Amino acid sequence: MGSVARPEETIFRSKLPDIEINNNIPLHTYCFKRLAEFADRPCVIDGATGTVLTYAQVEASARRFAAGLHSVGIGRGDVFMILLRNSVEFVIAFLAASFGGAVATTANPFYTPGEIHKQADGSGARLILTESCYVDKIRDYAADHGVIIVAVGDGPVPDGCHAFADLLACDAGALPAVEFDPDDVVALPYSSGTTGLPKGVMLTHRSLVTSIAQQVDGENPNLNFRPDDVLLCVLPLFHIYSLNSVLLCSLRVGAAILILRRFEVGPLLELVQRFRITIAPLVPPIVLEFVKSPLVDSFDLSSIRMVMSGAAPMGKEVEEKFMAKLPNARLGQGYGMTEAGPVLSMCLAFAKHPFEVKSGACGTVVRNAEMKIVDPETGAALGRNQRGEICIRGAQIMKGLARFCYINDPEATRNTIDKDGWLHTGDVGYVDNDDEVFIVDRLKEIIKYKGFQVAPAELEALLVTHPKIADAAVVPMKDEVAGEVPVAFVVRSNGSKITEDEIKQYISRQVVFYKRISKVFFTEVIPKAPSGKILRKDLRAKLVEQFPIG
Ligand code: AMP
Repeated sequence: MGSVARPEETIFRSKLPDIEINNNIPLHTYCFKRLAEFADRPCVIDGATGTVLTYAQVEASARRFAAGLHSVGIGRGDVFMILLRNSVEFVIAFLAASFGGAVATTANPFYTPGEIHKQADGSGARLILTESCYVDKIRDYAADHGVIIVAVGDGPVPDGCHAFADLLACDAGALPAVEFDPDDVVALPYSSGTTGLPKGVMLTHRSLVTSIAQQVDGENPNLNFRPDDVLLCVLPLFHIYSLNSVLLCSLRVGAAILILRRFEVGPLLELVQRFRITIAPLVPPIVLEFVKSPLVDSFDLSSIRMVMSGAAPMGKEVEEKFMAKLPNARLGQGYGMTEAGPVLSMCLAFAKHPFEVKSGACGTVVRNAEMKIVDPETGAALGRNQRGEICIRGAQIMKGLARFCYINDPEATRNTIDKDGWLHTGDVGYVDNDDEVFIVDRLKEIIKYKGFQVAPAELEALLVTHPKIADAAVVPMKDEVAGEVPVAFVVRSNGSKITEDEIKQYISRQVVFYKRISKVFFTEVIPKAPSGKILRKDLRAKLVEQFPIG
């Protein structure tokens, strides 16, 4: 552990000075602050159709949709689910939540019905906005729970659903004045955080406004987005990385986002060339695809000036290979966690007056925030270059965790945010002599498949419902393409001969593709502490023994 650091040496801050942040205003007021100036500028470009919506159009649409939500009974504090792929409708619906004082819980449209129901139930969603092609996944649930369905699509409106277009056609004047409290929740993404099942992360107007300001506001913004920028929006907006650092940050500065429904390297490169993309927020597996794809050399990508990578670790080798392909762009990492609003640290090579940064670093803590590294055993704050749990404090972090409708989950919140307001990330890392943050390990259970979260507890709960399985534990195994994949240790029930394939199929039917179990190891017993807690470290060690890369 090394020598004991003095308190003033254990709190790390940005190298950039703090800025004044007015976080007492609604998120939409903050994002559209310069609407008069940007009214006719492109705001959202649909990558599939090339349709461009200006700032004035997006703002007016969001207000109309908020009135539409109000007309079907969704008002201040009501939760609705956005179950959409990236689309103009997603943007409008999310901003409408802010205008109407409602709460948007964002979910992956590729979820299975079971996964959607759990989040709808947990969040208390009273309305689900989805594409017509996904309505069948929620129809029964909606009927049983009195949930309204709003469908997006060109074809006929599915039976029993409202049409997105009808809600959008409402008169914005019909939206009554909304009382506002900056600590009202506006976004409720789901995350398993440091332990257990996915929980609703309560992000308020104040937290999101603060987080955006920390990134793009001020004389020398940490992320120097400009009004003439065009950002690639290929990462899913249901994840807070894309929602915050792509959509909301872009709105704040008056830039445009190019929306892609899915990632496919060829079409993406063509769009980058056609729309002269300047900023590409990515995740490591997409960076890797760029590095590997021979197509990269066939397109003019010289417009890209900034490539941000986050949500999962990026290896130095990938970073270097990527830079060789795009020598004029700056490549750097940001480090986020849904519960932290999400950005904890951001690469200072992206600042208006940039700093030299090291390869492998995840940036420097954002402005108007404090970071510390604590010894996970003793809780003592550590000095520079000492490895421990990364903690963050500031107005951007979540208000708390919600598990059941409107009722906070104080215990889960207490386990994440301590009494002094520090959010414990469950990530192990250190801050070096130049204030750069390095992540080296994870204390928490979460598995990251291409940046997507997989909660072991969720898969374990499904596994033990199988009558032929007595006990189970799920841990991450390293994977070259996905970063990590979930693997299961399984104890068969007495006399059961259940096979690996049967188990894999049993899980595949119930979960989205990235939560599928990639390998099963049969074992006599799952190692547990006296408290009943699975000793995941032991299982991970077993994996490393068997598969040195794991
Ligand atoms: P999520 O809440 O889905 O954004 O996941 C947050 C977690 O992803 C963090 O707590 C880290 O474990 C991991 N993560 C995010 N950004 C990075 C990064 N740049 N490098 C390594 N891990 C990261």
